[in-house]
Amino acid sequence: MKLTLEEAAAGCVKTLRGRYVDRCSACAGVGHRVLRGVCAGCEGKGTVSHRAWFGWYGVPTTCTACRGDGVAREDCHDCAGAGKFPARAYRVNVRIPHGVRDGDQLHVGARRHRAGQAAVSLDLTIELLAHPLLKLDTDGTIRCEMPVDGFVWIANRLVDVPTLAGMHKLRLSRDELVYRLPGLGYPAERRGARADQVVTLRPVFPAQLSADQNILLDQLIATTSGAGGPAQSPELSGWRDALRDWQHNHVRAHGQA
Ligand SMILES: [Zn+2]
Ligand SMILES: [Zn+2]
Repeated sequence: MKLTLEEAAAGCVKTLRGRYVDRCSACAGVGHRVLRGVCAGCEGKGTVSHRAWFGWYGVPTTCTACRGDGVAREDCHDCAGAGKFPARAYRVNVRIPHGVRDGDQLHVGARRHRAGQAAVSLDLTIELLAHPLLKLDTDGTIRCEMPVDGFVWIANRLVDVPTLAGMHKLRLSRDELVYRLPGLGYPAERRGARADQVVTLRPVFPAQLSADQNILLDQLIATTSGAGGPAQSPELSGWRDALRDWQHNHVRAHGQA
């Protein structure tokens, strides 16, 4: 049975349809009953010779009554010699518990869909379909690696993140590339509690900046790197001072910049 990751994470009810063939229990599936004595058709020889033209005997052929072994038998009355009954349709509802894994085997006990229908028991093998956006780890962690507009990332905006429970709004933080969404992963074990989802961002910036984008970036840089700019960070101003001191000493010691 093929399940999407979402179906398997939440558990689901599936309707299985198919056809089954019942073996004849009266003859144990062989289609005949062995009688005492030898086959009447060939007197136990297993072959019959047909009289051919001019009185010569033809090539012996296998006896059709005993199929060649000379044993007397008669067709089973219950199944008319077929050993089985004509195929019948079945339809069974199966509840799949949440948290099944790829390759899991499930046994569904005998159940009857309708009165008069034979009970059908099924052995199922679970196959989890690959998810287009999410990846399942063995411990139940769901991983999502997503590209994000680099400018959206540094602006701390909200982005849509796919989860097994649907779309999730995630507030970005420009100093974080990895985010953990507690309880939004896959069940850690069958029928168990959900693990976490881990989102890893890959900020994407334009390969080539347009003239407008360059102007906007120049304006941005002027607010942070302009001399004594209001948004100058202590880390950057400290580095700039240390750089200036080093250059000054270097020139004094070696006579060149
Ligand atoms: Zn025979
Ligand atoms: Zn039979």
